[in-house]
Amino acid sequence: METNDKKIIIAIDGFSSSGKSTMAKELAKQIGYRYIDSGAMYRAVTLYALEHGMISDNGIVDAAALTAALDDIDIDFKPGADGQHTLLNGRDVESEIRTLRVSSNVSPVAVIPAVRHALVAKQQAFGKGRGIVMDGRDIGTTVFPDAELKIYVNAPAETRARRRWLELREKGDTETTYEQVLENVMSRDHIDMTREESPLRRADDAVDLDNSDMTIAQQNEWLLNQFRKAAGM
Ligand code: C5P
Repeated sequence: METNDKKIIIAIDGFSSSGKSTMAKELAKQIGYRYIDSGAMYRAVTLYALEHGMISDNGIVDAAALTAALDDIDIDFKPGADGQHTLLNGRDVESEIRTLRVSSNVSPVAVIPAVRHALVAKQQAFGKGRGIVMDGRDIGTTVFPDAELKIYVNAPAETRARRRWLELREKGDTETTYEQVLENVMSRDHIDMTREESPLRRADDAVDLDNSDMTIAQQNEWLLNQFRKAAGM
């Protein structure tokens, strides 16, 4: 473990499937910080909405019903042998929230202001004692505008779709095509950038990273160096 007394907040924002979670998780492990995947929280709320008939077959979300149900939705994380698992009202939903069904419905859920307010408040509570690595879309701009280290990750949509498609295949999904994943990535990019409530935006004081041509090891090393600088090590 590599750390000093000064605990900081590390905000990692970027487009979907940009590899942020992989590098955020690894950094947290190396420096002994808590890792929070804010996207998993939006995904868990989406799964709840799907399971409670709040999203129609053509993807229309019943925002009023979901807003009214927010107090009944508890999201937490627990460590598992293969990394962190997301809990929805105490139930382990880690694999369910990664399916294309949830990915296809999450962006319209994430535009609902009441959903964002509830989740942002929860994310801020997770970061109260600092010593946290959080990844998402609006972490450096809205959740922790005072984060000591902000990273903005980007890579072309095709590169990101290919990564996500390979990941799904590794998990045994042989049905989803690369084209479907690319379409999903591009449509989420569009919704994430154009929504009114805290859109994906680079914080003015963020450090940019295009990791298209980097190996995972190279990107981890790069991030660790950024952390050392920000933590004054
Ligand atoms: O990071 P991930 O792709 O798992 O996030 C799923 C979705 O949740 C994103 O496409 C985005 O719509 C939403 N999201 C968000 N704000 C965050 C994190 C995720 O709106 N901080």
